[in-house]
Amino acid sequence: MSAESIRTGLGFDLHRLVEGRPCILGGLELPYSAGPLGHSDGDAVLHAVADAILGAAGLDDLGTLFPDTDAAWQGADSARLLRESLARVHSKGWVVGNVDIVIATEGPRIAPHRTAMRARIGDLLQVAPDAINVKGKSLEGLGALAGGEGVAVQVVCLLHRRDA
Ligand code: MG
Repeated sequence: MSAESIRTGLGFDLHRLVEGRPCILGGLELPYSAGPLGHSDGDAVLHAVADAILGAAGLDDLGTLFPDTDAAWQGADSARLLRESLARVHSKGWVVGNVDIVIATEGPRIAPHRTAMRARIGDLLQVAPDAINVKGKSLEGLGALAGGEGVAVQVVCLLHRRDA
């Protein structure tokens, strides 16, 4: 596989967790009393995944493609944003190789939902669940996100040429 046939991308997202909002992360609704605040459903995991694949394909970012000033995306299901992002990546001739995700929060527990989240994101990205990895990280009580105030997500991905 030549260097021209693979690309890497990096995604990052951060959302405040607010009492009473549904806790939608990684395309799942997690059982938790607070959820990510956002113009869409606030799914920081899918937003960071979308930014990683868009970045790898040289397609700007989620905020540029789907502006939060656009009422069409008010309360939007982030799975839809990710599917639309993937369609643009595919149209450039790229497909997803693998995705590795770190979810840093002291809000909802991630570990019990890792398997389901991998399956869900794999389904959205049209790859096998073992091409998706999900890691939950505590914040060790440090910083503004400690105590469940928010969720931060980092994602790296690899794309390869459809015909490679
Ligand atoms: Mg976001």
